[in-house]
Amino acid sequence: MRVAAHTLGCKLNFAETSHLLRRFTEAGHTVVGFHSEADLYIINTCTVTAIAERKCRTAIRQATRLNPNAQVAVIGCFAQNERSQIEQIPGVTIILGNDQKHRLLELVTGHPSQVTGHSSQISDHWEFSPAYSANDRTRTFLKIQDGCDYFCTYCAIPLARGRSRSATIEEVVSMAHKIGQSGAKEIVLTGVNTGTFGLHTGERFIDLLRRLDEVESIARYRISSIEPNLIDEEIIDFTAQSRAFLPHFHIPLQAGSDNVLRLMHRHYDTALYRERIEYIKQRMPDACIAADIIAGFNGESEEDFEETKRFVENLPLSYLHVFTYSERPHTAALKLTPRTDMHLRRQRSQQLHTISERKMADFVESQLGKRRAVLWESSRHAGEMYGLTDNYIRVRQNYAPELSNTVTEVTLSKENIVIGAPTD
Ligand code: SF4
Repeated sequence: MRVAAHTLGCKLNFAETSHLLRRFTEAGHTVVGFHSEADLYIINTCTVTAIAERKCRTAIRQATRLNPNAQVAVIGCFAQNERSQIEQIPGVTIILGNDQKHRLLELVTGHPSQVTGHSSQISDHWEFSPAYSANDRTRTFLKIQDGCDYFCTYCAIPLARGRSRSATIEEVVSMAHKIGQSGAKEIVLTGVNTGTFGLHTGERFIDLLRRLDEVESIARYRISSIEPNLIDEEIIDFTAQSRAFLPHFHIPLQAGSDNVLRLMHRHYDTALYRERIEYIKQRMPDACIAADIIAGFNGESEEDFEETKRFVENLPLSYLHVFTYSERPHTAALKLTPRTDMHLRRQRSQQLHTISERKMADFVESQLGKRRAVLWESSRHAGEMYGLTDNYIRVRQNYAPELSNTVTEVTLSKENIVIGAPTD
């Protein structure tokens, strides 16, 4: 069978698609590009914003046109939360929510007549399905945790992915060894609410980090994202002196106004957020710190937004991931008033993008002339190759195959830095 896949959304989805495709390959099937003719198209979907859902619908329609006789499997978060919408799209033959998507191979090859419509209440789902990506042989996304118990008022992810659950430390360490044996040098630890690793198994995230640091075949680790209330001084101190954990953090902020953070039911206030960012910078002055932020949340007044702008402008953040707020079905924020006008949401989003660009430029400027460790990727573009510094700056140099998948020290300059926030 020829299998093609398209993934939307977060790193976790990418890791899960990659894992699924690897299992299809091991079972003797052939993976082809999404725009090729295939017998099975897999669309691993996202429900984080209305735009993400629109992209899912576009990808599903593309697949049904590419080969009208193919099976089209819609899996993941959008499939879990909005199943009835997907059932309306002609050509979709399989819909699997997050609780069932890991069974796609068995369902397609074993019981083709039973494949449509597997999905149960995700809140009842406590099983953890491990996954890691292997697209680029230098860098791997390793899923260590899934689901979330926080229920922020704007977020539909806990509804789509269920309660927080994780692998055990032993399982993650054993996967890290396996990834190391495959040759990959860098692992990005990935989850929905990564810092809640071990919440229901009695293990601690910090103990996982300590054990992973001992896996010598892995040269570098990043933590894909961690909530501000969960990155405590112990984790920051550990990272600052560890062998392989890098000075790069992604710490969601969402709003720089305590009023708005309360409306969002976030687990921290601006004082705590500031304290954590300043402590990171004190321990690791060259650390890259990215923050997610939502523009135009319902109930966000002009004054709240000005407060957010001042807050981010005065914090040593390296750049922002800006999201224009969009109401998600079934979330508590639907009841919040007043609703922010769409035009205003976009204007605020634009202002935050401008601040982010300025912050990125300042961060890059602060690194000029410094020597940083770069992991070189294997692909070649127009005679050049690319890599990421430990503190997440993209750099280039003339293609030299012997450098691929090695770490070398580079002096950063305007000539070798690729400007712009890294996209993942
Ligand atoms: S922490 Fe909040 S925003 Fe993140 S997945 Fe959980 S509910 Fe959603």
